[in-house]
Amino acid sequence: MVSLLLVEDDPAIRISLTRALTATGHVVASVPYGGVALSAVLRDQPDLVVLDLGLPDIDGRDVLGMLRGVSDIPVIVATARDDEQEIVRLLDAGADDYLVKPFSAGQLDARIRAVLRRTTEAAAAGPLTVGELTVDARARVARLAGTVLDLKPKEFELLLFLAENAGAVVSKRDLMVEVWRQPYGGADKTVDVHLSWLRRKLGETAAEPRYLHTVRGVGVKLAPPEPAASPEPAEPSGPAYG
Ligand code: CA
Repeated sequence: MVSLLLVEDDPAIRISLTRALTATGHVVASVPYGGVALSAVLRDQPDLVVLDLGLPDIDGRDVLGMLRGVSDIPVIVATARDDEQEIVRLLDAGADDYLVKPFSAGQLDARIRAVLRRTTEAAAAGPLTVGELTVDARARVARLAGTVLDLKPKEFELLLFLAENAGAVVSKRDLMVEVWRQPYGGADKTVDVHLSWLRRKLGETAAEPRYLHTVRGVGVKLAPPEPAASPEPAEPSGPAYG
């Protein structure tokens, strides 16, 4: 049984979604204002939040930011604007997925299940290790040689996905689909910008990569650094679950 908090000011939508999602077996609580959403999350600890962006008191984007400040709870954003820039911004701000209004309760339910499957699997797998880099999906913390990396939500997700696929070349298209949930967007630039931020936070440059290797024309690969001037072969570079 999944407990949901629905933040939606339109009473007709709130009632019909609550009814439909309850019928599929979820426990649904709803609030009409952003201001009470935060306290409801902290008090009731639901499994997931469905957040309408057009709220009467606080903009949903700000509610998302406040939620992310205190909680890793999965958030699905409901937006009225089918605008790629806007959607990328929301996902960057830590939304786990989005739906463009109008959507059916069935579509929402499918997204809820997918997001929860993803977050539960990631948490169950335990921290990933690539060389001196560890990525802990449950705690949402990445460390390099023991030092916590100061990553934005999307940078963390990018690093997590690369760590899950350590040793393999991942295309930018794959990253758009898997990290940004943008199957159609050709937003190469979004990926490039985030890769360069991540590279800087890992303390390396494209010219002298250690962990993050660009494979020209193909994509990018996360792998442990080659040992310097060592006759030993490199360690296997697949993900290690610990
Ligand atoms: Ca609204």
